[in-house]
Formats: sequence, structure tokens, C-alpha cells
Amino acid sequence: MRTVPSLLSMLDDPEAMPPPPLPAPVMPWDYIRMRRLAAGKTIEEASRPFWHHDEHQADVERNMRQIEAVGFRVKRLWDMSRSYRLNGTVYRQLCDTPPEQHPRLCRACGWDEWSTQLDTEGLDCTWSAHDPEICTLCDQIKRKKFQPRPANTQPSTNPRSANQRAA
Ligand SMILES: [Zn+2]
Repeated sequence: MRTVPSLLSMLDDPEAMPPPPLPAPVMPWDYIRMRRLAAGKTIEEASRPFWHHDEHQADVERNMRQIEAVGFRVKRLWDMSRSYRLNGTVYRQLCDTPPEQHPRLCRACGWDEWSTQLDTEGLDCTWSAHDPEICTLCDQIKRKKFQPRPANTQPSTNPRSANQRAA
């Protein structure tokens, strides 16, 4: 007859509870995607400010998709500020330095401590006291998500999407 291990014996067994994997480094293509998603934009929406003639749309969207392709590094990244905010110096460091020298970034939105970003209370972002991997904005969004939504709240007033647009 098999014995069922107790919860306590599983907690004692190092094989049963492997340590969580170290977070993978944020690579240049990850950084671009994180900043785009933090702005709440699709590739198409992010591309829109950069083309003015219909025949250029597909080219721009292809370029925007390419800079997020795994392994792709841009020598000179164009000014993205019309579309979403990223730190060009951070991008260069991610491209040019080994992962152990990469700057510390919020693992949810890609925020770096040299860039200004406001949290949901309108205060300057800093590192979350609850989770050092993320910024205070992402921490606030994460914790709001687990709060029950009031029954009369419309999706358009969802604080998460409002913040993402503002970021
Ligand atoms: Zn963040």
C-alpha cells in the first residue's frame, strides 16, 4: 500500500520544492516589447505616428515588429517618443553589455530608475517595497487586479487600462 506524503514532509524534501528559477535577463527586444505593452499599444497602434502615406504602413509595422524579434539589435534606434516612452541609453546598454551588467529594470513594464514615470497616485515611480523586481506603478496595478471590482464599475473606468494609456 502506498503512503501519501504529508504536506510537511514535502516541504522538508528539497526535491519536491525546487527553488524558483533566476529571472532571465531582459534583452533589448524584451525591453522594447515591455515598453510598448506598458503604453497599452499594439504594433499597429505603435506604428501609426510614423507613417503618413498608406503605402508606408506595412513597412513601418514590419520595422516595429522586427525590433521586438528575438536576437535583433538596432544600431541606431529611432526616436520612439511619438509612440511610447523608452530610454535610449538603457536600450544601448542592453544591446552592448553582457546580461550581468544590464541596468536594473522593472520586470513588468521595463521602467528604469533614470526615467520619470508616475504611479497610479501621481507620484514618481520607485522600486516596489513588496516586490523588488517591479516598480511601484506595476505593484499598484498588480494589487488592484486582485481586489474585487465593485459591481457598478464599467470596463472603461478600469484603472489598469487608464494607467497603461497614461504611462
Ligand atoms: Zn513597472
